[in-house]
Amino acid sequence: MTFDPTSMPIVTLNNGQTLPQLGLGVYKVGQDIAVHLVQTAIELGYRRIDTAALYDNELEVGAGIKRSGIARGEIFVTSKIWNDRHSYQDAVEAIDESISRLNIGYVDMMLIHWPAPKQNKFVEAWQALEEAVVAGKVRGIGVSNFQPHHLDSLAAVRLDGSVPTIPAINQVELNPGFSQPEVRAFNRAHGIATEAWSPLARGRMSDLEVLTTIAGNHGKTPAQVILRWHIQLQNLVIPKSSHPDRLLENIDVFDFALSEAEMNQINGLNTGSRTGLNPDEFD
Ligand code: NDP
Repeated sequence: MTFDPTSMPIVTLNNGQTLPQLGLGVYKVGQDIAVHLVQTAIELGYRRIDTAALYDNELEVGAGIKRSGIARGEIFVTSKIWNDRHSYQDAVEAIDESISRLNIGYVDMMLIHWPAPKQNKFVEAWQALEEAVVAGKVRGIGVSNFQPHHLDSLAAVRLDGSVPTIPAINQVELNPGFSQPEVRAFNRAHGIATEAWSPLARGRMSDLEVLTTIAGNHGKTPAQVILRWHIQLQNLVIPKSSHPDRLLENIDVFDFALSEAEMNQINGLNTGSRTGLNPDEFD
């Protein structure tokens, strides 16, 4: 069984780029399995891969895409600049290095991985990203783990009077246990697409009764219910799995809908506590 990629909802970003709403995340996917996993995911119907310089598997992601035989233009690839490359010159080089490792021509979306506020250099990295778009190296640019006040700093008019590009995407920790309503509302108000990382809370919520009950109502699994909740919130979503059966399970979420009452029950699971790092503190 495979998923028909033409039945995937397509999202249009503020720069006109389009991408599938659901893709594959490859954090902690080792180099030993990454080529095969990416190839398998694409064969199963995935058309979007989320990697990063940090994940140390860009080379394998690019190789898996090539091995799939699917045309480059059909696949949307995101990568990210790590925290130690925020100075302008470092960011220019980091972008080129990611492109070289991926070895698939251009990158569809390049993000600043974390704001790293103590360094206070993400504005420099942003300028390097803007120039990479003009040079045709990168098609779209965005951020990750940015709080509204980081986005405000990024948007400040420069000394030369130029207005910075609005990020196309803000990728943040987001799952029913930490659903970030304020960040989502801020992103929406500024035309920035919200992308959910750790969308499944790394499997920690699968036993919750609210989710198992709703899953039973629909003949689906708790993971599928969580992913459907993301889809209905209009989040971009990038669940990770290293198992083909779960790859298929995670993309098979477009043949049912959660009711408003079910959405509200899942919204009620928000604790307001993150499990990942705090973007205001992590450098
Ligand atoms: P996820 O919430 O996607 O959960 C992944 C975990 O859940 C894995 O242990 C996986 O196990 C398990 N899992 C996957 N599918 C199922 C299923 N159907 N049922 C039960 N368990 C399942 O966590 P991630 O942290 O990996 O986040 C997803 C992606 O987000 C990352 O891969 C990365 O691309 C991105 N990310 C970005 C960050 C950022 O700072 N920008 C930070 C963290 C992640 P198994 O593999 O064994 O199936």
